[in-house]
Amino acid sequence: MPTWRAERAPHQPDWPTGPDIVAVETELAGYPPLVAPRECDRLRGRLADVSLGRAMLLQGGDCAETFAKATPASVRGKLRCLREMAVILACASGLGVVQVGRIAGQYAKPRSRPVETRDGVTLPSYLGDAVNDVEFTEDARRIDPYRLLRTYRSSADTLDEISALIGHDGIDLTALHEQIREMAARGPRNERHQELIEKISVALRFLAGYAGADSDLRAPDFYSSHEALLLNYETALVRTDPRTGDDYGSSGHLLWIGERTRQPDGAHVAFAARVRNPVAVKLGPTARPEEALALAERLDPDREPGRLTFIARLGADRVRDLLPPLVERVRDSGSPAIWICDPMHGNTITAPDGHKTRHFDDILREVRGFFAVHHELGTHAGGLHLELTGEDVTECVGSSGVGFDDLATRYESACDPRLNHDQSLHLALELAMVFED
Ligand code: PEP
Ligand code: MN
Repeated sequence: MPTWRAERAPHQPDWPTGPDIVAVETELAGYPPLVAPRECDRLRGRLADVSLGRAMLLQGGDCAETFAKATPASVRGKLRCLREMAVILACASGLGVVQVGRIAGQYAKPRSRPVETRDGVTLPSYLGDAVNDVEFTEDARRIDPYRLLRTYRSSADTLDEISALIGHDGIDLTALHEQIREMAARGPRNERHQELIEKISVALRFLAGYAGADSDLRAPDFYSSHEALLLNYETALVRTDPRTGDDYGSSGHLLWIGERTRQPDGAHVAFAARVRNPVAVKLGPTARPEEALALAERLDPDREPGRLTFIARLGADRVRDLLPPLVERVRDSGSPAIWICDPMHGNTITAPDGHKTRHFDDILREVRGFFAVHHELGTHAGGLHLELTGEDVTECVGSSGVGFDDLATRYESACDPRLNHDQSLHLALELAMVFED
């Protein structure tokens, strides 16, 4: 019988032996839930619309949040970026866009190597702010279970910040309109591009007028999500809904299982099967159709629309070959699982100066491939999962004037490279073009 207990699970930190981790778990178990069961249920309902082809899911945020960057300005920037992308996608597709942040809990990272060597010095890898610190010193890289308490507090602060923004911080549609026009002027001057910009401009002008009379646009639902990696933390935050007796992971609305921990009989999948939240699973290029099917059966035995999302991250070169058998196998079983595209994690490269980066063209090529496959199969391309920030960083190349030589200018990610604000809007516009086809 699989167990959700952390000690049997892969990719768990080597917590120091002693009473500390138990003390931390006990402390967390007494804290209030970060998210309420009814909010998770509401998100599942919104995702049911995605499953039925009536809406799209836009999920995005940092690869790794840090305690230092959990500032109001940074949270606001990410929300704004997602909301602006959502407006562009909604204008172009006519579909609703469910917005979910990779936010308020994305503090733990699985790493391919347990140690990192720089200039002959070897130290434990950075495992996310929930576990150790990114700075390359022995002290900073020490695994500290008490950081789980800071993870909780930082997530709570971020959720407070999000609630303060929702309903009070409308996006400036006129400014967005201007920015899109500027991007169009910089971009390829082809006729279809200009026509699309014109169409979105008209829609934005209409919305700007409409938003004055109706504040709905200022108050979209917004939900939190993160990879449910650290099982000590996640299980300590499971809460039972007194209305129904169901268990919920109270650390975030949507919880996903990463590519490295998605074994159908593994501890992480057992954890996800136990909770009622909407859940997601990443599928990389080694995923077999039988595995996807086993995951669908284990995580969504009742075939409930909105419960399960697959996040495909197959790489630009392989998505057209690898995606169809996965989607077909799951669809033919009768599963209503949502499919979204993570065009980031299959397209990571090393720049000549050693920075980890991603080329915008590869990201776009995977997105286009993903949408083309669904178009050919007659299935619904459910949306995107992105690593992005509202700030003007230089981490991904090939858009917004960022080339390999610019990476050092403002590379701030604690882990993987993110699209900056301008690049995120560029991607939304390019996807908007796909809906035109
Ligand atoms: C991530 O989302 O940052 C990540 C580690 O992804 P994956 O599990 O797809 O490798
Ligand atoms: Mn990442």
